[in-house]
Amino acid sequence: MARESKQARAERARRIVRALAHAYPDAKIALRHRNAFELLIATILSAQCTDEKVNEVTRELFRRYPKPADLAHADPNELEAVIRSTGFYRQKAKSLLGTSRDLCERFGGRVPRSLEELTSLRGVARKTANVVLGEAFGVPALAVDTHMKRVNQRLGLTASDDPNAIERDLMALIPEPEWTGYTRRVIHHGRVCCGSRKPRCELCPVRKDCPWPADRKRAGDR
Ligand code: SF4
Repeated sequence: MARESKQARAERARRIVRALAHAYPDAKIALRHRNAFELLIATILSAQCTDEKVNEVTRELFRRYPKPADLAHADPNELEAVIRSTGFYRQKAKSLLGTSRDLCERFGGRVPRSLEELTSLRGVARKTANVVLGEAFGVPALAVDTHMKRVNQRLGLTASDDPNAIERDLMALIPEPEWTGYTRRVIHHGRVCCGSRKPRCELCPVRKDCPWPADRKRAGDR
């Protein structure tokens, strides 16, 4: 593809935003949650794990520990046993305990509403904070997970591998009110169409604006 001007890329990004909104008007986050606390905990558990598995586990987890204070006082061994099937359960149990204790000790048992405060919680990385801001509090946020990374790289909207740099690249291209919806739709698109191994380019709603090499689009070989 010939070198693209900044303006051309911004226009292309807006066409992509519109096409995804048209193709997936009802895309929503797959992690089941009833409030910001549950979403925070579910998102921490979703690292290296499918959302389906997290949803199975959180049913029991939130039955036993419905509030931050309950989870903050959980027995570590019992907690590990409940979340074991999500993988990396020792580290995740530490994160859940640390986050819940921070919520109780520093925020009166409530989930804070700013990126700075959220990322100050033990076990909460920027992506998790952005998921909570966008989905629980309605603050426009771009949460860069593996789908956001792969799809936006293929779309030529970022050349970076670093989630923070990808977020910055997208902030410059996607209108702010669209950030949360764009995140939802790209993740959905990454699941149903632009998969890591065999993207279904022939069915893709943003095919015309995707520079991913045409021979790969035909072969679907990456
Ligand atoms: S055309 Fe193919 S590579 Fe590009 S976004 Fe669509 S599915 Fe992904």
